[in-house]
Amino acid sequence: MARILIVEDEVSLSDLVRSHLEKEGHAVDQAFEGHEALVTADRARPNLVILDWMLPGLDGLTVCKELRRKHLMPILMLTARGDVADRVTGLEVGADDYLGKPFSIVELSARVASLLRRVALDTASAAEDDSRPITFATLVLDLAGHRATLAGSSLDLTRREMDLLEVLLRHPGRTFSRDFLLERLWGADFDGLDRAVDTQMVRLRRKLGDLGVCIEAVWGVGYRFRPELRETT
Ligand code: CA
Repeated sequence: MARILIVEDEVSLSDLVRSHLEKEGHAVDQAFEGHEALVTADRARPNLVILDWMLPGLDGLTVCKELRRKHLMPILMLTARGDVADRVTGLEVGADDYLGKPFSIVELSARVASLLRRVALDTASAAEDDSRPITFATLVLDLAGHRATLAGSSLDLTRREMDLLEVLLRHPGRTFSRDFLLERLWGADFDGLDRAVDTQMVRLRRKLGDLGVCIEAVWGVGYRFRPELRETT
């Protein structure tokens, strides 16, 4: 099945979730504080992270941001806070779903299954990379042929713009931090400014014409692709 990392400082809860997920056939790693979570994620490369908001050391929100600099796996945040604002903050730094404490193990299990299905879909489409162009409305992104068209006309995109568009189109709704995008587009060694991403994004949006509205800036964080914005304009 999947490899799952549980980041939770409450040992009994972590163990409970672990034994349940293991019964469902998953391989489980545990981390009990924030720094350990980052190290374990790099080492174990989990398919999914269950991340508690309140942690000693680095808090869950910071861990979530840090994970997003390098990793694309879904993150399910756990929190005792029921506040909607917290939930929004969590989603904006790159969490994919959110579960308030206390939760039932059945509910957790359902969320995990749903997030893993999404990963399976992502992976399936990634495997088809070279054979099948990515399409959205009148936009066709043909990665194998290094070509993009908009309403049938050729779009003059740079390699970086193609990469950027690919990441966004493959993960609708997910917010990507500027750091993540910088590293993705220029590589880990690039010591550039966040503004480089903004400049790139402005250019890309302009080239996309009417569809440019679907690339949304998330204040203080980065960018996300929201296909539904096309319908509302
Ligand atoms: Ca906790």
